[in-house]
Amino acid sequence: MSTSVPLVVRLLASSVSIAGRAGKIVRDVMSKGELGIVEKGKDDYQTEADRSAQRCIIASLAAQYPKINIIGEEDNPENEGEVCTEWLSTDADKEILSLECPPFLQGVKEEDIVVWVDPLDGTSEYTQGFLEHVTVLIGISVNEKPVAGVIHQPYYKNLVGNEKKTGRTIWGLQEVGVGGFTPAPPPSSLIITTTRSHSNPVVEKALQVMNAAQILRVGGAGYKVLQLLEGLASVYVFASPGCKKWDTCAPEAILTAAGGKLTDILGNNYKYGASVSRPNKTGVLAAVNDELHDYALNRIPQELKEKLANK
Ligand code: AMP
Ligand code: MG
Ligand code: MG
Repeated sequence: MSTSVPLVVRLLASSVSIAGRAGKIVRDVMSKGELGIVEKGKDDYQTEADRSAQRCIIASLAAQYPKINIIGEEDNPENEGEVCTEWLSTDADKEILSLECPPFLQGVKEEDIVVWVDPLDGTSEYTQGFLEHVTVLIGISVNEKPVAGVIHQPYYKNLVGNEKKTGRTIWGLQEVGVGGFTPAPPPSSLIITTTRSHSNPVVEKALQVMNAAQILRVGGAGYKVLQLLEGLASVYVFASPGCKKWDTCAPEAILTAAGGKLTDILGNNYKYGASVSRPNKTGVLAAVNDELHDYALNRIPQELKEKLANK
């Protein structure tokens, strides 16, 4: 791979290829039928697909970018060590390699980067057969801000020319744009997307006040942001501390590159440096544009905001 291509662009190109490789692992584990489900906490599961996909992603990135700080969701030291060569992806997506790097990212060094990896977002849905909700997330942050990201959908069915393909990869790069899908304008009425498996009374209260025409309940932060990008919903509301930095880094990078906005329920941006706490304690509020983000932010009662902030 040419080293004349700036680091962030090379890293994004590698991440696109690696996410596709990880997506194949996710499908392979499901077809074998041995999910190896482990309960990490309340309503929080890990499967063999989460573990294996993470090993593939981290080993592939670390081999090519040894000084980058890579943080993955799964904590499975017993599985670390040698990764089979079949799982090591060294490819880089050619379309991404040809992108013009925005000036503010041209001088970035490996030491300035933190990559947040969610090897399988939507594990509950994966185990319950809602496979189209499942995504692989690789988010690239520089100086604490998400600047680029990949959302791979291992089970997306599409037609490329006459050829049936399984899986697609959506990417975004700040000041450059997004790709891998056809962006669509927001729906004409207010459609909210939210959790299907991690609700609670506070989450429901924040939904009630939105005065939405429709509420879609789907799995995964990646899939919900895809709904925003594809014009199926206009706002993502989740008033709960359950999401973590690996859930929002890639989706936030892509949504922002498409003109949207992702913050907490109080309207503050999350930071993605290596030392930040993992949970997005004050929830998630994302919208396709600033106007809808402002609308949703203003609808959430102050006492609910304070409740989350003081948890
Ligand atoms: P959801 O919108 O419920 O699919 O959640 C999006 C992401 O946040 C997924 O990776 C979930 O596993 C995670 N998440 C959300 N709420 C919780 C929770 N209460 N406990 C554990 N993980 C959660
Ligand atoms: Mg997740
Ligand atoms: Mg996950």
